[in-house]
Amino acid sequence: MQMGKEIAVAAGASSEGKYRGRIAPTPSGYLHLGHARTFWRAQVRAVERKGQLILRVEDLDAARSQPRFLEAMLEDLRWFGFRWDEGPYRQSARFHWHRDALERLIVLGRVYRCDCSRKDIQTASLAPHLGEEGPLYPGTCRRNTGKPSAEKQRRTNWRFRVPDNRRIAFEDGNLGRFSAVAGVDFGDFVVWRQDNAPAYQLAAVVDDHAMGITEVVRGEDLLLSTCRQLLLYEALKWTAPEFFHCPLMKDARGERLSKRNQSLALRSLRDQGLAPEQVRQRHGIKPVRF
Ligand code: GLU
Repeated sequence: MQMGKEIAVAAGASSEGKYRGRIAPTPSGYLHLGHARTFWRAQVRAVERKGQLILRVEDLDAARSQPRFLEAMLEDLRWFGFRWDEGPYRQSARFHWHRDALERLIVLGRVYRCDCSRKDIQTASLAPHLGEEGPLYPGTCRRNTGKPSAEKQRRTNWRFRVPDNRRIAFEDGNLGRFSAVAGVDFGDFVVWRQDNAPAYQLAAVVDDHAMGITEVVRGEDLLLSTCRQLLLYEALKWTAPEFFHCPLMKDARGERLSKRNQSLALRSLRDQGLAPEQVRQRHGIKPVRF
């Protein structure tokens, strides 16, 4: 497969009132039916609104994002019946957009240098899915005000300071009103890692904005992340997209699917000789008329 030709770097797009949705998988394992179901919802919403669907590969975590998973992912998405209008765009190729936004947050005094070596820093390049929220950051480094030296600035973690006790609310297109309290339900979060890697929260906002995304469709385990991201949109003075969160899929034992559920990986279903239409029908995934 030829990857080079397909993968471009998104230029700032203007949505001009047109629906623009996206699917944003992380190539850290094989896609399973849970991913496909949520992505399908995104595709249906884009097609029904005569809009566009963008494929963005969230490959910021260099250690976990492997080329073999990326290739498998594109193959599995096509096999399942996905058709995207733009992309795949690789998030790792958009470093300068992310860095520019960080610089703005530094100038605005909305982030502080964090010298802690906590787990949330190590895992910051990945979206925090179910059970991965971790404990609230206690604010140890909040006192780090002022600008560090240029050298130090280059090699430091940065955290966004949340407005304590403020309720962040939004109207979800699927689940209705959702709200969470900053400093209580979630704490100061990582936007940049000292190894010079953007964190998921910042990169998602920067890319959704630059790509002119009008609605974000994703799993409901990212509801709290949406509240964090709304704070970033506000700080950067950007209009936030609409949000539509989907319930997560459960396996036969009633547990939520994860990349460990290999039996429901799209590849396994295909290897069992199932056609994508059969898989969709069995799992109540409605067809799309392109
Ligand atoms: N790349 C994220 C994931 O692992 C998706 C995050 C998003 O849709 O904003 O699932």
